[in-house]
Amino acid sequence: MSLPRLLVSLAVVLSTAHAVAAEAVVSMELADPAAGQPNVFPHIPAASATDAGNAAKLTLIDGQRDGNGAQLTCLNDGKLADSADAPRSNFFLSPAVPSGRLLVEWDKPHKLHAIRSYSRHPDGRGPQRYAVYVRPTAKPAPAEALATDPKSAGSGWSLLAEVDTRPLGGAPAGCAVAITPDETDKAAAQRVGLGRHRYLLFVLEKVDPADRFGQTFYSEIDLDDGAEHPPAPKLPGRSTLEIEGGYAIDFDTTETPQLTAWVDKVLKPTCAEWYPKIVAAFPTEGYKPPKRFGITFRADMNGVAFTAGTNVVCAGPWFENNLQGEAAGAVVHELVHVVQQYRRGPNRTPGWLVEGLADYLRWFQYEPVENRPRPNLARAKYTDSYRTTAAFLDYVTRTYDAEAPAKLNDLSRRGEYTEQVWKDLTGRTADDLWLEYVQSQRNQ
Ligand SMILES: [Zn+2]
Repeated sequence: MSLPRLLVSLAVVLSTAHAVAAEAVVSMELADPAAGQPNVFPHIPAASATDAGNAAKLTLIDGQRDGNGAQLTCLNDGKLADSADAPRSNFFLSPAVPSGRLLVEWDKPHKLHAIRSYSRHPDGRGPQRYAVYVRPTAKPAPAEALATDPKSAGSGWSLLAEVDTRPLGGAPAGCAVAITPDETDKAAAQRVGLGRHRYLLFVLEKVDPADRFGQTFYSEIDLDDGAEHPPAPKLPGRSTLEIEGGYAIDFDTTETPQLTAWVDKVLKPTCAEWYPKIVAAFPTEGYKPPKRFGITFRADMNGVAFTAGTNVVCAGPWFENNLQGEAAGAVVHELVHVVQQYRRGPNRTPGWLVEGLADYLRWFQYEPVENRPRPNLARAKYTDSYRTTAAFLDYVTRTYDAEAPAKLNDLSRRGEYTEQVWKDLTGRTADDLWLEYVQSQRNQ
């Protein structure tokens, strides 16, 4: 079987009443698997590592990335997939979403000569199916405007081109698409290209809506403005972890490079597992926990860690000394604070309970059983905060109400916590519950 090399210039789409851009022409090609050189296309140039994508910010503003694939940054590295089925080398959408919107932003308009996209997969994930929209503005647009559905009236987006390579079939050696200005009038094509754009919006569609896993494996998107854009220097120690549920965590160990390996190896998997668990453990109707937050390590900081809003800040020296012990658990405690976001107000939850709930999830859910705290009962009280309050909450949970921590969290988040809550939950005051707890421990 011989595969078609060049497949016609398809769809001429954009109507240019005012000639700010030549009409866009879409060409598509497969690399020939028999040629022994994957990702080499008859006419469409090889992927570029220095295109204007390096100067752009790429954000998935709708839809969800598949966590089995690469981050969005893989679309900008000039590298194509090194095998026919290489999920880690490709960006692709989750099976859960029918489509996604990828926003490209520059800090100033760029005159585009071509847009090229590359994918690779032998079967249903090989073909590309998307539309590109542009926005006739040189000025910054507000995020809400950029997030409007481009198909809705008055969205401010206009269609540049539609791509559908399904007629080519699978792409075991790679599939390339080029969107270029119509060259019928060469001078005009040169002069205006695809237009000057500050924003592009790619609407990525499932290849086959009936195929659950039919999401294109995108290896690269090149935005060619004719200039060389050196890749942004990689900042070692800065990385974003995208996790289940559409959450993203920005890690920063630039001040403490000695912690980067531990963050990558231990902390990231811990956060990926536990942030969604904590979200699920502490729900409130209508409440959405932070979708994105940061964890930053400071070289010159005393103490352990704190959370301010959506910023977790960790003391580098303490972490360095506790990597084999309490380090990861200390961050789990802070993750609870990120999820808590309690209201301030007349019924503000006392600090000992805020910390007790954080330590309850940490010590009685996250940490192994043998690490559970055992307060010194001769001196302790439930208002001692942290581990002591956590042990007290564990007693109430085991003895009276398995939902007690979730209920206390919910009331706290609504700003409705009062001392009466303990009576409502257990029929006893907090002081009485503490005496019971102390007695129960002595009887053991
Ligand atoms: Zn705390």
